Amino acid sequence: MKPRGEALRNIEHSSFDVCVIGGGATGSGCALDAQLRGLRTVLLDAGDFSSGTSSVSTKLVHGGVRYLEQTVRGLDPAELAVVNRALRERARMLRNAVFLTGTMEFLTPCYRWPDVAYYFAGMKLYDWLAGRAGLAPSHFISRAITLRRLPALNPAGLAGAVAYTDGQFDDARYNIALVVSFTEAGGEALNYARVVGFEKDAGGKLRAAQVDVYGGAGAPPRRILVPARAFVNATGPVADSVRSLASPGVPPRLRLSKGAHVVLPREAFPGGDALLIPKTEDGRMLFAIPWRGRLLVGTTDEEIDSAEDLHLTAADTGYLLRHLNRYFAEPVAPSRVVSGMAGARPLLSAGDARSTKSLARDHEVEQDRRSDLVSILGGKWTTYRAMAEDTINIVQGLLDKSGAPCVTRDHALAGSEGYTRDFWQTIQRQSGLPELSARHLAEKFGTRGMAIADLIRSDAELATPLVEGLAPTRAEVVYAAQCEMAVSIEDVLARRNGLEVYGWREALDAASAVAALLARVHGWPGEQREQELVRYREKVRGRMKIAGLAA
Ligand SMILES: Cc1cc2nc3c(=O)[nH]c(=O)nc-3n(C[C@H](O)[C@H](O)[C@H](O)COP(=O)(O)OP(=O)(O)OC[C@H]3O[C@@H](n4cnc5c(N)ncnc54)[C@H](O)[C@@H]3O)c2cc1C
Repeated sequence: MKPRGEALRNIEHSSFDVCVIGGGATGSGCALDAQLRGLRTVLLDAGDFSSGTSSVSTKLVHGGVRYLEQTVRGLDPAELAVVNRALRERARMLRNAVFLTGTMEFLTPCYRWPDVAYYFAGMKLYDWLAGRAGLAPSHFISRAITLRRLPALNPAGLAGAVAYTDGQFDDARYNIALVVSFTEAGGEALNYARVVGFEKDAGGKLRAAQVDVYGGAGAPPRRILVPARAFVNATGPVADSVRSLASPGVPPRLRLSKGAHVVLPREAFPGGDALLIPKTEDGRMLFAIPWRGRLLVGTTDEEIDSAEDLHLTAADTGYLLRHLNRYFAEPVAPSRVVSGMAGARPLLSAGDARSTKSLARDHEVEQDRRSDLVSILGGKWTTYRAMAEDTINIVQGLLDKSGAPCVTRDHALAGSEGYTRDFWQTIQRQSGLPELSARHLAEKFGTRGMAIADLIRSDAELATPLVEGLAPTRAEVVYAAQCEMAVSIEDVLARRNGLEVYGWREALDAASAVAALLARVHGWPGEQREQELVRYREKVRGRMKIAGLAA
């Protein structure tokens, strides 16, 4: 990616075929698709890329096991088609960025034999829907093997488990890889650039976006105009607000559901497999999934009115641990939580009063006839590419069919070139990093990890870990600031190297070194460096407090 200042200058002096608003999974996917079709495209995000829902997901590449039961009960072929399409997208998403994805077995413990039959039948349906896009057949595993694989499971009355395979991915890094791939295809991307209004022609059609560009550290935003022939609203949970900027008074189309996760030490539930809790007291499904040395547990599902300022609360922790502990031999106390996150699911309104947990995660592309704003609404991470394809097909129609057909189905993302599972060894040879850090680089950056290894070769000091004993190094901070448009401490720790997900305390420990490195790359004066550090620490301590933890 270009340095932010250069990207801003290019955007200010250009006009575009397509302006994509929102740099989460959906918008980044749309921007890449449009650019690869030969449409000159700009991508704008109000915050950091992936700072919305796209970095706080359960990190599953899935067809939607969660919705299978309601789909079968409702006997709705349209909903089965949603699962089927997502399963095909699952295969593409895994293939197009091998370094950021993997597969995992999910075990559903059964304490009654009728449950074994019920969940086995459900998983076989999932296999059947996947067809040739299936990852591995589901199967029953005995009580003894279940306990060997999940030794911390409550053994009392256990019959066995039904196992099925799904995909897992690094959501924040996948999002960054999409943006990098987009810019390398010739697109322009800018973070901290909020669309606050539009200019229209005499017929009411959108002609330019009014964008507030933030310069950081309390500096006031600067207003710029971004002219384009078509505008895509890919702002996820806040899409209704951008729809009404284009057409004031337009009725809302989204309902929002808050989902929260807690992150626990891996020792709380050892073993390499994921646990699926099929039914909570209010009929939901929970997952406990190994995630980069930790256990990710989620998610809640609570209808909300606004996507602003969502956090893991002490009540969320209480809910998640209460259900988890029914399956654990040794209960986990809330004080063991190391971090957590929450986000809003953008659910397409079904137009009736059904609860948010029973709404199908389908998507819709809407073209506003008055302004020609194209909004992509609903969907999920796994289907981001298909959503983008549908959206840019509509955009092409608006632009008199200009551009080539969609090519993203088999478009490998940046970092995939020449990647193999042992690529970490090449990084290690180049950088001299210990295995832990070399593996981390390969898994987060793919073959682009070599650029970080090169930074270390020219400055050995950059090999120092940000936190003693953990994988992320100082070099990644420099790379994130120079090549991935990381502006703030949070951009680095939450979305570029994942340390904030690993642990809030570890993120606080790393913050000072990150601030110093960002100050060096961005030329922050000492006072700004201090302000950024104080602000970040307050933010993290605030999150810990809301989650009920002592900072
Ligand atoms: C708890 C939870 C768990 C989930 N788990 C999974 C899962 O395991 N697998 C799966 O497939 N899906 C999952 N999902 C769904 C998936 O995460 C979302 O559907 C997806 O991330 C939405 O992406 P998006 O790009 O549409 O929205 P977002 O990621 O929210 O992106 C919207 C972007 O728009 C920007 N923006 C907003 N307003 C403006 C403006 N005015 N100008 C410019 N930019 C603006 C925001 O800053 C933001 O970056 C989960 C969702 C939740 C909440």
